Amino acid sequence: MQQRIAVIGAGVIGLSIARSLALQGATVTLLEARRAGSGTSQISFGWVNSNGKSPLAYHQLNVAGMQAHQQLQAEHPRQIRWLEETGTLEWASGAAGTEQLEQRVEALKALDYPVRPADRAALARLVPELILPETSTALWWFPTESLVHPALFVAFLRAEALRLGVTLVEHQEVVAIDESASGVRLSLQDGSDWRGDHAVSATGRWSRHLMGRLGIELAMVDADQPGHIGCSFLGYTSPAQVQLGCNLITPDLNLRPDGGGRLMLQALDLDPTADPSQVPDTDSDVGREMLARMAKVLRNAEGVRLERIAVGQRSRPADGLPALGYVTEHRRLYLAATHSGMTLAPALGPLIADEILSGIRSPLLAEFRPQRLLGKSAEAFAQIVSPHFPAAQ
Ligand SMILES: Cc1cc2nc3c(=O)[nH]c(=O)nc-3n(C[C@H](O)[C@H](O)[C@H](O)COP(=O)(O)OP(=O)(O)OC[C@H]3O[C@@H](n4cnc5c(N)ncnc54)[C@H](O)[C@@H]3O)c2cc1C
Repeated sequence: MQQRIAVIGAGVIGLSIARSLALQGATVTLLEARRAGSGTSQISFGWVNSNGKSPLAYHQLNVAGMQAHQQLQAEHPRQIRWLEETGTLEWASGAAGTEQLEQRVEALKALDYPVRPADRAALARLVPELILPETSTALWWFPTESLVHPALFVAFLRAEALRLGVTLVEHQEVVAIDESASGVRLSLQDGSDWRGDHAVSATGRWSRHLMGRLGIELAMVDADQPGHIGCSFLGYTSPAQVQLGCNLITPDLNLRPDGGGRLMLQALDLDPTADPSQVPDTDSDVGREMLARMAKVLRNAEGVRLERIAVGQRSRPADGLPALGYVTEHRRLYLAATHSGMTLAPALGPLIADEILSGIRSPLLAEFRPQRLLGKSAEAFAQIVSPHFPAAQ
């Protein structure tokens, strides 16, 4: 019999799961408290990678995400390109930074993750505006990494879900969940109920709150608190006369093309002051610092200004790894909460849909069951995030 499934939350994770469930024949309702794609999925750096992600199972899941993005885009050649297969250029500075990068490169090579020294002459031709560091600094090129345009990815997934018959209900918060051996009931903010076979919580950084309504404590970072674990500044520039076509990770600034010459900037060491309740304006210290750093990496950027600064709020289980699986006694409610969701969404959709519809557990998801986080507070977990390279990105 056709399963009736509700997905709660229409960010990239919920949209991808809803799409995959519908593709496999389920009757799917997607319930979104605000507007699809208006949560963390609208403020994201969008770097599709598995660069420095451990343990091995997490690396493999991210590689699956990279491949799933390429396959999904290739299967839809006439749709908008949400995925730019750009590659990443990275260099480090200082003894410690250089050693860390070299160690990461060696570890990635051992995993057969594509990485090679970048060709300075070719780079100078390709991006004449790039100010390369001195010749003694090693430049590394990660050819299989890509960039997602978050709004375009959301638009694609949303249209696909609708095309496949998903019922999308926006501005409808799920306020309570009850399950029994035979099914699940969701209470909605307008006083109505939804009833069906399974529900999936894909509520991102709100997962802790929704689980709390069921009396389940879930160890997740509180992204409303200021600081670099849960939050990060992103700067969005005006169009620059700069031919940057790839993702650029430098010691002081990450830069990526953001369409039409615009650039997206991220300076991770500034994030300890990132506070979602006090977003700085473009003429703030943070904004001026980002632009000053950009001018050290790119020529011809003098007239470029910031059009906007945003504070992104991560959806981050307390140990940094995804939380994927059933959380209740009768296995009617499936939790899907993760950081790196831009990379993971196209792989998690089909994997989670398979688990729910077939009942067969995927080996790729086996190490990410939420039980390790239940009944615990976030403080019980050590926060291991380097200010220069958060493995969490
Ligand atoms: C600054 C920053 C940089 C990042 N960079 C990268 C990167 O380079 N690469 C990468 O792979 N990932 C990156 N990420 C992570 C990635 O963006 C997120 O993992 C992903 O967007 C999370 O998607 P989501 O669908 O889980 O959450 P969201 O997009 O937040 O969606 C959750 C949805 O649930 C809805 N909701 C909540 N509660 C309810 C309820 N009770 N009822 C109904 N609806 C509800 C919300 O309104 C929201 O729309 C970054 C994140 C940040 C903040």
